[in-house]
Amino acid sequence: MKKTAMYPGSFDPITLGHLDLIRRARRMFERVIVAVVANPQKEPLFSAEERVALCRAAIRGLSGVEVVSFDGLLVNYLRRRKCRILLRGLRFVSDLEYELQMALTNRQLYPEVETVFLLPDERYANISSTLVKEVARLGGDISRFVPGPAAAALRRKIPA
Ligand code: ADP
Repeated sequence: MKKTAMYPGSFDPITLGHLDLIRRARRMFERVIVAVVANPQKEPLFSAEERVALCRAAIRGLSGVEVVSFDGLLVNYLRRRKCRILLRGLRFVSDLEYELQMALTNRQLYPEVETVFLLPDERYANISSTLVKEVARLGGDISRFVPGPAAAALRRKIPA
């Protein structure tokens, strides 16, 4: 059961930071389920289908990684998939407050679940999907922040 970790997020779109975390997680767990939140609270730029497709394109060639989308309460989906490891990334101390609150809430809702936090390579620690979209809107080069397919999709969605 501990062989599978689930990595939930909006992935709007997937970045090199997310991808770095997935690679690191694969060194620790046999399987990683990238779980795209279908209806995140923030209005996403990409549809759930687009976000899943961009994640799948990014992990092409990586074994043991599955991309799905889910709706509703994360702990319900974890139970359904019989997964007890939740993976989240930490970039800055500012991430910690929200992440701790969520990890403890998830634990109260599903006591068997453990949240594991991973740190990205320092080259990617500044990257967030929000910032990447902002740079794209302002006409900046986003190719160093996101995998190729996500960069192309951003350029199509946000014409310069
Ligand atoms: P959410 O809306 O659930 O925060 P995100 O797609 O923004 O979804 O992030 C999913 C997870 O990935 C979060 O734990 C976030 O902290 C982590 N993450 C995002 N960007 C990076 C990055 N550059 N390096 C490491 N972790 C990251």
